[in-house]
Amino acid sequence: MTDANLRLSVLGAGPAYTDRPGATGAAYLVTCGSTRVLLDLGQGSFPRIFEHLPPQDLDAVAISHLHPDHYIDLVPLRHYLRYEFTPPRRVRVLGPSQLAARLDALHGWPGFTAESLDAATLGEATVHAVGEVTLEGRLVTHTDESYAIRVAPAAGGPGLVYSGDCGNADDVAPLIRPGDTLLAEVSFGVGPAKPGAQHLDGPTVGRLASATGVAGALLTHLQMGNDPDATVASCRAAYDGPVAMVWPGSEAEV
Ligand SMILES: [Zn+2]
Ligand SMILES: [Zn+2]
Repeated sequence: MTDANLRLSVLGAGPAYTDRPGATGAAYLVTCGSTRVLLDLGQGSFPRIFEHLPPQDLDAVAISHLHPDHYIDLVPLRHYLRYEFTPPRRVRVLGPSQLAARLDALHGWPGFTAESLDAATLGEATVHAVGEVTLEGRLVTHTDESYAIRVAPAAGGPGLVYSGDCGNADDVAPLIRPGDTLLAEVSFGVGPAKPGAQHLDGPTVGRLASATGVAGALLTHLQMGNDPDATVASCRAAYDGPVAMVWPGSEAEV
């Protein structure tokens, strides 16, 4: 591995709720050289950041969409930056356009977010430069503003494409470049996904991985009652490359 490679550390793998002790909301740390970017920060995942770095050293947090299992721990991040330091520290946050307004509304406090988070819209049109990586978003079918996100070394090389929560795998495909690794939600396990649920399943992710020629598929966000091994097998049935389910503590090189 060189400094140009990405490393993924899974802090939380979702889903929205679970009976699995220790499971927390989506939070995926991506490291490239000295740059550390977090993809999502769902419920309960904030303390896990400390296992890897002081949260104030994050170069950015990118939020896929405004469901609490993907963004709600921005609240403790904001409190930590605001109250643990004099003067307060700040972290850049890229996400849906309503992110700051939603966090402000949680506390009934206009300006709550801006006191310690520099929030900006991720959007589709911009390649965001963050230290040694670039971040790109693409709208996917889920909420009215949900993104899949590609993180890649700014110097070039394979990237990581994260589906966020997604109801149509075809929405993710345009973000994927040859050699990228796919990190995809498989809420509905072996499938089929419940009609209208706006989530993916193992076979669907397998077909996406096969069609786009990714270097590997990492599966996440498995809902209660679904079998992880059967889900991995259902993905492998449609895709020849490496497939693994990730959990808090999982590490992967991209
Ligand atoms: Zn979710
Ligand atoms: Zn969601």
